Amino acid sequence: MNLALIGIPWDENSSFMRGASEAPSLIRAAFASESANLWSETGIDFGATPIFDAGDLEPVSGAAMISRIAESIEALLDQDYRLITLGGDHAITYPVVKAFAKKYPRLSLLHFDAHPDIYDEFQGNRYSHACPFARIMEDGLVERLVQVGIRTATGHQREQIERFGVEVVEMKDFRDDLRLEFDTPVYISFDIDGLDPAFAPGVSHREPGGLSTRQALSVIQRLEADVVGADIVEFNPRMDSTGMTAMVCAKLLREIAAQMIVGSG
Ligand code: MN
Ligand code: MN
Repeated sequence: MNLALIGIPWDENSSFMRGASEAPSLIRAAFASESANLWSETGIDFGATPIFDAGDLEPVSGAAMISRIAESIEALLDQDYRLITLGGDHAITYPVVKAFAKKYPRLSLLHFDAHPDIYDEFQGNRYSHACPFARIMEDGLVERLVQVGIRTATGHQREQIERFGVEVVEMKDFRDDLRLEFDTPVYISFDIDGLDPAFAPGVSHREPGGLSTRQALSVIQRLEADVVGADIVEFNPRMDSTGMTAMVCAKLLREIAAQMIVGSG
C-alpha cells in the first residue's frame, strides 16, 4: 500500500482570517525537521517507507478550484494511493470527500473540530469553511459522520446535526477512554482548532477548552478502522509565532499516516 500527500494552499472561503493557504510548506518542513525523527509512536519508520509527495495544487479562484481539487484527488486515488492533504481551510474537505466517495461508496468520516461546520450557509456562502459537512451530508457522500471535540454548536447547527443524523462527541462530554470503531473505510478530517489553543495556537478561530494533543493522538491510535484518507486543515501560520502548531501538524501527519498502515493489515 502506498501513501501520498498533497498540499492544498487555498483559504478563499475562510470567514474570519486568511492564512491557512500558507500551511502546506510549513507542515512539510516540520515533518522533515531534524529536531525529530521519522518514526511513528506505533513503530512505523517513514524514513524506510517514504510518503510520496505530489506537491501543491495550483490555486485558481472560486468554483473552478472546487472542481480542480476533486479532479486532482480523484487522479491520485485512481493510482491507488492512500492520501493525506495538507493545508487550506476546511472548505477543501467537501471536494476532497466527493472524490473519496466515488472510490469508496461506503465511506465514513471522523471529524476533529471545535466547530461542527454544518451551517446551511455562512455569510451568504454555501461553500464557506463553516459549511462543508452540510454539503457532504446533503450529497449523501458518507455512511457515518462522527465529530469529536465540538464546543461551539449553535441552535441551527444542532438542528442540522439532528437532521443529518450526525454522531457528535461534544467536548463537554469527552472521556479519555474514547474508543471508536468503524466497519467501513474511514476518512479523517482534522481541523487543528479541535485541539486546545494552548497546544495549537496557530489557528484562525482559537476556541478554549479543546482536546490535548495527547487526547487526539489516543483517539487516532485506538481507532478500530481502515483509514483510507485524511486532511489536516485550518493551521494558520500567521497565528503560530512559536512554530509549535507546525510541529503538532507534523506529529498528526506521522501518526495518522502510521494508522493507515497499521489499520490496513
Ligand atoms: Mn473546521
Ligand atoms: Mn474549526
